[in-house]
Amino acid sequence: MIEITIYGRGGQGGVTLAKLIATAWFARGQYAQAFGVYAAERSGAPIQAYVRIDDAEITNTNQIREPDHVIVLDPTLIGRGILAGLKAGGSIILNAPKKASKYAELFPGHNIAAIDATAIAVQRGLGTRAVPIVNTTMMGAVARVLGLTFEEVEATFAKLGFGGANAIAAKEAFEFVTSVRGEPALAGSPIARPVEVAPCGLLEIDKIGGPPKIRTGSWATRRPRRRTLTPPCNHNCPAGNDVQRFVQATARADYNEALAVLLETSPLPGICGRVCPAPCMTDCNRKTFDEGINVRELERFVADHGKWPVPDVRPTRSERIAVVGSGPAGLTAGYHLAKLGYPVSLFEASDQLGGVLRNGIPEYRLPREVLDRELGFILMHGISAYTEARIDRAGLRDLTRHYSAVFVATGLQESHWLDLGDGSGVVRQGIEFLESVHRHEEHLEGQRVVVVGGGNTAIDAARSARRLGAASVRILYRRSRAEMPAIADEVDAAIEEGVVLEELVLPVHISRDAGAARLECVRMLLGEPDASGRRQPVRRTDPEAQFVVPCDTVILALGQTGDITIIPEASEIRDHGEVVGLAGAPVFLGGDFGRNEGTVAAAIGSGRRAALHIDRTIAGRDLVLSEEPRVATADLIGTRTFVHDAQRLGRTIDRSQREHSFAEVHLGIEDAVGEAQRCFSCGVCNSCDTCVNYCPEGVLTTDGDTYTFNYDYCKGCGVCATECPRGGIVMSEL
Ligand code: FAD
Repeated sequence: MIEITIYGRGGQGGVTLAKLIATAWFARGQYAQAFGVYAAERSGAPIQAYVRIDDAEITNTNQIREPDHVIVLDPTLIGRGILAGLKAGGSIILNAPKKASKYAELFPGHNIAAIDATAIAVQRGLGTRAVPIVNTTMMGAVARVLGLTFEEVEATFAKLGFGGANAIAAKEAFEFVTSVRGEPALAGSPIARPVEVAPCGLLEIDKIGGPPKIRTGSWATRRPRRRTLTPPCNHNCPAGNDVQRFVQATARADYNEALAVLLETSPLPGICGRVCPAPCMTDCNRKTFDEGINVRELERFVADHGKWPVPDVRPTRSERIAVVGSGPAGLTAGYHLAKLGYPVSLFEASDQLGGVLRNGIPEYRLPREVLDRELGFILMHGISAYTEARIDRAGLRDLTRHYSAVFVATGLQESHWLDLGDGSGVVRQGIEFLESVHRHEEHLEGQRVVVVGGGNTAIDAARSARRLGAASVRILYRRSRAEMPAIADEVDAAIEEGVVLEELVLPVHISRDAGAARLECVRMLLGEPDASGRRQPVRRTDPEAQFVVPCDTVILALGQTGDITIIPEASEIRDHGEVVGLAGAPVFLGGDFGRNEGTVAAAIGSGRRAALHIDRTIAGRDLVLSEEPRVATADLIGTRTFVHDAQRLGRTIDRSQREHSFAEVHLGIEDAVGEAQRCFSCGVCNSCDTCVNYCPEGVLTTDGDTYTFNYDYCKGCGVCATECPRGGIVMSEL
């Protein structure tokens, strides 16, 4: 494909020139596309027009960022800015008063062609002296440089209804265009290399056109100002990830940078990219347009494809910190504390690190290699980890004497129980069941399994049971599906795998019939909302409400609570019975133990905040963000500049492959760049240049990432603010 960008000003006919070029190549049997980006309100405003030519059908309609050739219609726009994205070997075709060789220094190494199209157009009476229309004249030069015959130009003019002076002017340009050769032309181009033509002897006239001359800023009442808002994805990420920034880096296929952005906050991106319920996707503004960005899959892709850095972290501080519990909260706290320079000791009761990530979430959702990769990365930060090191109340008190601060993230260890009578040999706890699945100690061939509960543990137990050969798996939940705390996609996946979900059912008793277990159940209905806002399940009293479920195994997954006996009450310092302080180093609580938010991402965020609080307590540095952010809501997004494009979904293995196998179900997305490019970058400038293109005064200039308003000439019209697709410009009263 050949892509051409035309730079011009409103009124010069840049879009028509794009159409002329496209028409000429279309007549040669090529596919062609032409369109412009411009504001209509005023002639003289900078515009861009684009042409695509290809052998195959052209399906992309985005603005051209890396053109093969550029054409400049207005001499005032000649500058190094037009080189942005220009491919090596392409041509620069200028409407310029001087010969091509005069621009060789400005555009070193490039093929340059120049023609004074303004002089020719004025001379031939095309447009007015103030705004000469140079498009047809430039078509002559373009044809010569890119390899069209003049007969083809004439045929194109005839097709589009351009006669008289247009063809004469084009012919002059065709004959008198000057050029200098830079690099070889693009390989495989359907467009010819620039030709060497004898310098022309054209009449040089005064420069015509140019930027506005009136100092509008002196009477303007409003002024545009750039601003950065918080994208809703960033705002909703419990881990505190800069979602917008990592997605934008992914859109540039810069996966290493994207991974580096994620690692600023979370050391577990491959894990979150697999198991996070992704609250960042809930309020994605793109949902108001078509479908939200698939952030979870992008995070997974980046973690799996980016290059993990080798950390070079050495303790710079003398204060040692103890972390108790190696779930996502403890691991993240240790990681950030080590990065802040603290020597960290991590104490874990189990024989392996990872908490629920290792003992709870099954391998078909979270493969061990992913967990081990991210654990290994965290430990490379110089953390000393001790397994089989259960810390009790006395142990915690000891830690407060030997360390400068202690972070306790012991998770939820006490499983709720349901008294069903004599459940011996039949009833078990979901967490213990999943732990034993991880140890490959479970066999359920031919069994009728009943799981009681509606959270992630219930769904994981049910799906694991299916994989372990259970003849049937039923989930009984006392509320309705809408109230289930489990991740909705996981519930869908369980049903897809053959798990039966029975809503509004409460098991009440286990009875035995000739040794076989029967679970007696009662059907429920939903009553008034309870304290949690969920409608309270109430027993039905009609005769059909009672029924029996034959079963071999009943797995209880009714939630858990933290074991608070670890908190060292005895360290309180009392004065006449009143607590006046605590002895030893400060103790911080986090993760599910601190505030049961029940997700990996929340545990990561909690661990990171704990590290920052500890650092503030010890070092006095205030790295904790407390400001309430201004969120870029959907009403601030200019969706009309975007093209509808469906969300890329992750691939999964077939249902048949999941039977008797703990192989990972999700395989991730393929087109991460395409998915990331759908991101609106809400409230954050991503250098799309729409403001520059639409500024009717031409007073907004850019030099890569920096944008400058020339307030002397800005009349405060607000077009830039209205057109910014991201809500990144705001008008303020003077
Ligand atoms: P934990 O992960 O529970 O880790 C606590 C650690 O502390 C454990 O390793 C434990 O052995 C250790 N410990 C306990 N007591 C002591 C002691 N006295 N001394 C030393 N060490 C101790 N969230 C999601 O976002 N997505 C999911 O898909 C998801 N699925 C889940 C599936 C299951 C089966 C379960 C149970 C939870 C799931 N969650 C999920 C929730 C998520 O896993 C937890 O919110 C998260 O793991 C909490 O992290 P944590 O670090 O606070 O605690």
